[in-house]
Amino acid sequence: MTLTPVFDGHNDFLLRLLRDPGNRETIWLTGEGKGQLDLPRMRAGGFAGGFFAIYIPSPRAHDAPDFNAAMDNPPYDLPLPELIGDAAALPVAMAMAGHLMWMERTGTLTICRSTADIRAAMAAGRIAAILHMEGAEPIGADLDALHVWHAAGLRSLGPVWSRPTVFGHGVPFRFPGSPDTGPGLTEAGRRLVGECNALRIMLDLSHLNEKGFDDVAALSDAPLVATHSNAHAITPSSRNLTDRQLRMIAETKGMVGLNYATTFLREDGRQDPAIGWGPVLRHMDHLLSLLGEDHLGLGSDFDGATIPQGIGDVAGLPRLLDAFRAHGYGEPLIEKLAWKNWLAVLDRTWG
Ligand code: ZN
Repeated sequence: MTLTPVFDGHNDFLLRLLRDPGNRETIWLTGEGKGQLDLPRMRAGGFAGGFFAIYIPSPRAHDAPDFNAAMDNPPYDLPLPELIGDAAALPVAMAMAGHLMWMERTGTLTICRSTADIRAAMAAGRIAAILHMEGAEPIGADLDALHVWHAAGLRSLGPVWSRPTVFGHGVPFRFPGSPDTGPGLTEAGRRLVGECNALRIMLDLSHLNEKGFDDVAALSDAPLVATHSNAHAITPSSRNLTDRQLRMIAETKGMVGLNYATTFLREDGRQDPAIGWGPVLRHMDHLLSLLGEDHLGLGSDFDGATIPQGIGDVAGLPRLLDAFRAHGYGEPLIEKLAWKNWLAVLDRTWG
């Protein structure tokens, strides 16, 4: 049986290259036996492409709490790191974009600026990558850099990772917790939404708090998209979407990508890969009940999260799709969830 292609809402692979740039040929082309992504395992799992995030790591303070230890033992309520200015963020962002452009030069991946580019890359057997920013730290409040990044291929942007930016406020990692954690977009954030609409850059609402989400909903003329978030009704994490938010996403013909992070999947909020398919399927069923079949897809968080042992890494994607089949999802729905819905919402967003 041929593999069902998967187009994915979020990965942090570029962070691995940022941390070990001298080794990037091994990490990408042959795999180093670590992490959840590399080219051979993508091919083995049917991973056809997705959003590749530029994300600026915070400098780690000597007294910073151990986030992983906290998420292993809920309840947890983690403080957010401080804002990072655009001058400090820019060299890091440039390095990460540079790594993605190097990947393109190896002939194995295309940085896609349109859905025609995505379809062509998929047909040619190259990974179809979207240059995405998770947190707009590399862009100043005057927004000039947004135009530079757009010219470099940026087609998707989250105004915040959870840490605050000059544009808005994200949710602290909290379980249990509501996504309603603070103020909405700043004045610069409101201008950012307008400028992204004008440039047809997709806005990603994962990590925004609820007031920021509502501000984008009121201002944006594009479908509302959360690339890697789950259902708050199943797992009450601050990072998950309430039923009200899910209905708003459906109303705009938007999109949600299922996040594989176990702390957002498990009902007990614990970061622990020892789970069966039950929690994954409960999230999928709930999301489908509110979003409908055309507005849900996958948003793995590969290389950024502890994921269910049943998936393991990107080569395990066929096992996830088989779990959907065993649960009774038909082949047409599986194709929508695996890749077709992402391409359709990008068509609606990018025009
Ligand atoms: Zn994220």
